[in-house]
Amino acid sequence: MTEHITIIGAGLSGLSAAIRLAELGVSCALVSLQPSERAQSVLAEGGINAALDTMGEGDTPAEHFADTMRGGADLADPNAVAGLTGNAPELVRRLYALGAPLQAERGRLILRNFGGQKKKRTAYAKSSTGKVLMTALIDEARRYEAAGLIRRFSHHELTGLSVDCGRCTGAVVRDSHTGRGLRFPGPVLLCCGGPGGLFPGMTTGTTANSGTAAALAFAAGAALGNPEMIQYHPTTVQIPNKRMLISEAARGEGGRLFVRRGSENWYFMEELYPALGNLMPRDVVSREMVRVCALPECGDQVFLDMTGLPKDTWRRKLPDLRAEVEHYLALDPAKQPIPVSPGIHYFMGGLLVDEAHRTTVPDLFAAGECACQYHGANRLGGNSMLGAIYGGRVAAEAAAPHAVGGEPAALGSLPSETVTAAFAATLRDVLLSGLGILREKTGLTQALARLDALAALERSEADRRQRLLGRAMLLAALARQESRGAHTRTDFPERNDARFQKTTVARFRDGGIDITFQAIPERRAAP
Ligand SMILES: Cc1cc2nc3c(=O)[nH]c(=O)nc-3n(C[C@H](O)[C@H](O)[C@H](O)COP(=O)(O)OP(=O)(O)OC[C@H]3O[C@@H](n4cnc5c(N)ncnc54)[C@H](O)[C@@H]3O)c2cc1C
Repeated sequence: MTEHITIIGAGLSGLSAAIRLAELGVSCALVSLQPSERAQSVLAEGGINAALDTMGEGDTPAEHFADTMRGGADLADPNAVAGLTGNAPELVRRLYALGAPLQAERGRLILRNFGGQKKKRTAYAKSSTGKVLMTALIDEARRYEAAGLIRRFSHHELTGLSVDCGRCTGAVVRDSHTGRGLRFPGPVLLCCGGPGGLFPGMTTGTTANSGTAAALAFAAGAALGNPEMIQYHPTTVQIPNKRMLISEAARGEGGRLFVRRGSENWYFMEELYPALGNLMPRDVVSREMVRVCALPECGDQVFLDMTGLPKDTWRRKLPDLRAEVEHYLALDPAKQPIPVSPGIHYFMGGLLVDEAHRTTVPDLFAAGECACQYHGANRLGGNSMLGAIYGGRVAAEAAAPHAVGGEPAALGSLPSETVTAAFAATLRDVLLSGLGILREKTGLTQALARLDALAALERSEADRRQRLLGRAMLLAALARQESRGAHTRTDFPERNDARFQKTTVARFRDGGIDITFQAIPERRAAP
């Protein structure tokens, strides 16, 4: 192998990083538990944001920047967000040029409304945007696989990180089929997705992303940023073993939320927030759903009403969504409202990275949903795929100069890293008891005590790592004594900029976890 970098994860961020490295002439080992075709990125539905201004609304990257910062409750790094939003139009045009069949008319990309944004800014492919973007990047990556610049190690799991004198010097991975290990030398780029596996049955995402890869990095010295910031998507439906997402595109195309109040349907978001209504950011909508359901005069179920959507919208823009609802809920959303409730959907927090996607451990990088970057205290719909693809490129550019030579070394058999299902279910219940939409000190303290007691139930290293990550989330939520974005403390209902307009930083030290708060970088003047 020539000079290379090891990438863990082959979803949007991992593929994007691999392609960028290849463009720079640097080879990589692209390691993933599952093949790209099964990464969570394939599930993404509604779209990807870029101020392309193809709808004649005068949209600009500056407005995309402002919406992203405001949506994230001013907790994101403004310089990183400026890079993201400034580069978004070119990045999305490039994806289209690569062959992703985004909705277009005579070469002009069509954009839809998404939450927290006043202008149409979300490019899409019906409700299967993640799938078409992944297909385009998988195809592009194959060109470089043929040239030997990208080497795939699918069905391989990260089981160890080597850190010497505080610097990352390699990754140990285990072949899930043979059990045999490999040690890759050199810098590592983690693109391992959000820790959905901490919330089996309660998340719209895949539990195959167990979170244990990020926990390995945390235990090896990499700090976490804002681990308490967990996004509850307002419109999900419980189905066996998971939460089914009703994409924000449903509201973007005209879907309306209501609750029964006496004999009427109360379209509460439209009354409470006349400007953006049903398209307020997700944290606001989820919180209001919990609040209206607690009112004595209201029912305890919120419905998504899409019965007024034109036939053409169903046919051209949301056919997959309609088919899914018909299949799983046995109701036709064009004729009947859908009962919905908030479910865990995204992790704004993750491995703390700087603008170049360097973690706090030299030569260890992170991008995509496993990293804390771009989304502050609440992510806007359509910004995640953008952040994963853009972040992968930025991380690759930062990692490339550190590439080293050397072949992977064979290590013999390694123990399996499986999370025990019963442990994961108990851990989920403990975490949810503290980390709901509404939080307060007693619930968080009790959850921490229950978490400690779970040590007796651990059956694997993976169980232990999941508990470590959960502990960081609870401690961070306890320390942030204010309400901001996705983090609502009923005992501290106000936003407190003086004390907490800062990044929560969790560090693993001497077997314990320290929580501190770090200033957000000042915005640099435009060059
Ligand atoms: C139902 C749904 C709909 C969504 N819709 C949208 C949308 O419309 N717009 C938007 O912007 N975002 C959307 N998102 C969010 C978005 O899809 C994700 O945040 C994004 O795709 C994450 O990409 P990623 O590269 O970080 O991770 P992933 O795509 O999750 O990839 C993670 C990779 O890491 C590998 N991996 C994990 N753990 C290990 C390990 N221990 N060892 C080795 N490999 C490992 C996995 O196998 C995988 O290859 C949606 C999410 C869901 C769940």
